[in-house]
Amino acid sequence: MFIKAVLANGQYRLLKWEENVQNPVGYRVLFRTKDGKGLTGIVVGSGEGKPQGEIISFPDKLPLVLPRSIELVKDLAYHYLEPLGKILWDFIPSIFDWYEEEVVSLAPRSFKGLDRKSLEIVEYLKKKKKVRYELLKKRFSSSHLRLLLEHKILIKKKEWIIPKIEEEIFKLNLPLEKALNKVRSEEKKELILYLYENPFATKEEMIKRGFKISHINDLVRRGILKKEKEYNIYTKNFSISHKRKILVRKKGNEIISGSFEFVLERVLKIAEKNAATGKNTLILVPNRDELFSLISHLSGELGDRIIEISSRISSKKLYKNWFKAYEKGYVFLGSFKAVLLPVMDLESIIFFNELSNTRFPVNNIDLRRVAYILSKKTGAELIFATPYYTLESFYLLGKKLFRKEEEKFKPNVHIVERKNEIITEDTFNFLKSIKEDKVLFVVLKQGYSYLYCPRCESVAECPECGTFLTYSKEKELIFCSNKKSHYRTQEKLCPSCGNRLEEMGFGIERAKETIERLFGKRDNFSFTTFPSWKESWEHVIILNADSVLSVPSYKSKEKFISLIALALRVAKKTLLIQTGLLSKDEKEILRRKNLEALYEKELKDRERNNLPPFSRLVVIESKHDISKILKEKVSENFGMIYDAKRNLWIYMLSAKSSNGILNKLRELKRKEKMKIILD
Ligand SMILES: [Zn+2]
Ligand SMILES: [Zn+2]
Repeated sequence: MFIKAVLANGQYRLLKWEENVQNPVGYRVLFRTKDGKGLTGIVVGSGEGKPQGEIISFPDKLPLVLPRSIELVKDLAYHYLEPLGKILWDFIPSIFDWYEEEVVSLAPRSFKGLDRKSLEIVEYLKKKKKVRYELLKKRFSSSHLRLLLEHKILIKKKEWIIPKIEEEIFKLNLPLEKALNKVRSEEKKELILYLYENPFATKEEMIKRGFKISHINDLVRRGILKKEKEYNIYTKNFSISHKRKILVRKKGNEIISGSFEFVLERVLKIAEKNAATGKNTLILVPNRDELFSLISHLSGELGDRIIEISSRISSKKLYKNWFKAYEKGYVFLGSFKAVLLPVMDLESIIFFNELSNTRFPVNNIDLRRVAYILSKKTGAELIFATPYYTLESFYLLGKKLFRKEEEKFKPNVHIVERKNEIITEDTFNFLKSIKEDKVLFVVLKQGYSYLYCPRCESVAECPECGTFLTYSKEKELIFCSNKKSHYRTQEKLCPSCGNRLEEMGFGIERAKETIERLFGKRDNFSFTTFPSWKESWEHVIILNADSVLSVPSYKSKEKFISLIALALRVAKKTLLIQTGLLSKDEKEILRRKNLEALYEKELKDRERNNLPPFSRLVVIESKHDISKILKEKVSENFGMIYDAKRNLWIYMLSAKSSNGILNKLRELKRKEKMKIILD
């Protein structure tokens, strides 16, 4: 039979398999290409034609992804105009991508009489035992390596590169009495007793119990403990049937918004209830810090019901955890690489903090959207657990697509008119009245300041991307805050004319310097460029709210509102906002903490200007001018700029589902080389 599989590079291969299998979709296959290379693929279907390789094995007992995940990826590929295979593998942890490679080791013989260069290679391999040929070629001359291979001093062979999914386990190497008699320290005795009761414990488990690595190693060296490798690759066993079920959405969608504790309690309740009734829960957390914090909070209550999917755990554990998704009564937590987890009996999908950055950096796909599609494909309820809802969710609330449960905002809001000062008089007086309360200063800019060039009469910009440069006094560095690799220097000179630059505006370092000059160093004052939802303070002061509002983007109002919402969640008594860019009306709305009214206003503006969520914004980047083609094939209405620095033509247009622009673009993308970035 012929099986169609997709590779980690996004390409498809038609593969031959001797037997007939039922429903191989979603399984991982190891196969060998025509030119003898071993690679991994994920089965997406069967096919006809000329095979491009032969399957060696199905390494997992169960499908790596469910057919519904492939459906989900299909939807995403359609929505984001990207190839299915690429998106599929973007969301798969890299430990599943196995491949064959040539490795080199030493032949079992004597190495006498070799020249100095050869001995260097031999010594290197003695230490490393086995090295990938490609890597070796980078270190030593390939002609020399070839010579050693020809003389059979080195051996080259193909081997599968498999991440460490095997694990070292430990057990006693001696009878208990004998082992105990050999050591003196109480700690080591305890370690021996522990292993007597728990043979096959892993290093991880022992460290968790408080035993020291040095003790474990010492006992192994002295032959008291024995180290073994547990290898756990499943062989194929097709047992699962994919009967199509009619999906019934049991419950609707819900938005729970509030402080971290408030939301945490609700999430815990849902997860507990699901686990107790043998149902599974999937919690998607885009922010890594919040993911880890949530895991430790929930583990305290739910213990081993909590299953982590992240790169911080060992490959072995990740492999085990992934297939745990086929069992019942667990709570799975992960970030972007957990969306294709084959969770069975999925009752609830919880999306955690939709105000954080929800885009997958690898492909710009919005995890929020993924959660939404997934809930539709599985029939699971979708819950947004968040400090506050986004503009888009507010829009969905208006359409009655979500219920909501909301905690009241606690602090009082003060708005202080600011011109150019770092601390206004009102803020100064407010701070003077504070004794021991904890205060958080929010400065939405890193470093000390921006830089101004008096000769160019403009703020210095990054030569790569045009972002205003940041000056850090602490690090004595000038850099691009967008990407440090773009620009970093210690010279305080204008990148375009070489003139001396002057400090302008303020970042967190300068704000700290000023406040410490006015009030001295104080333990109850902290500074951040962005508040963290997990913590709280009595008073939160946003020193330069205008730096969000003054960004020339249609999203800046929305970003401002989410910043305020988050600040309202982490402040217990006061939220003080310094700004010079708000109307009287807006200030009054803010004082009443009526963020919905601000959203309402923003939605009206967006609708009038045909901006998201009423349309989708499309940005196209091309190496050459494609305006003529766009006009003919797609639409007459688009904006264009030429970015001389990157030598790129950039086009912007808005697409509605009704005007067919996306379909036309999809068509065009097949012929033209261009990058399409979609909202
Ligand atoms: Zn830059
Ligand atoms: Zn200049």
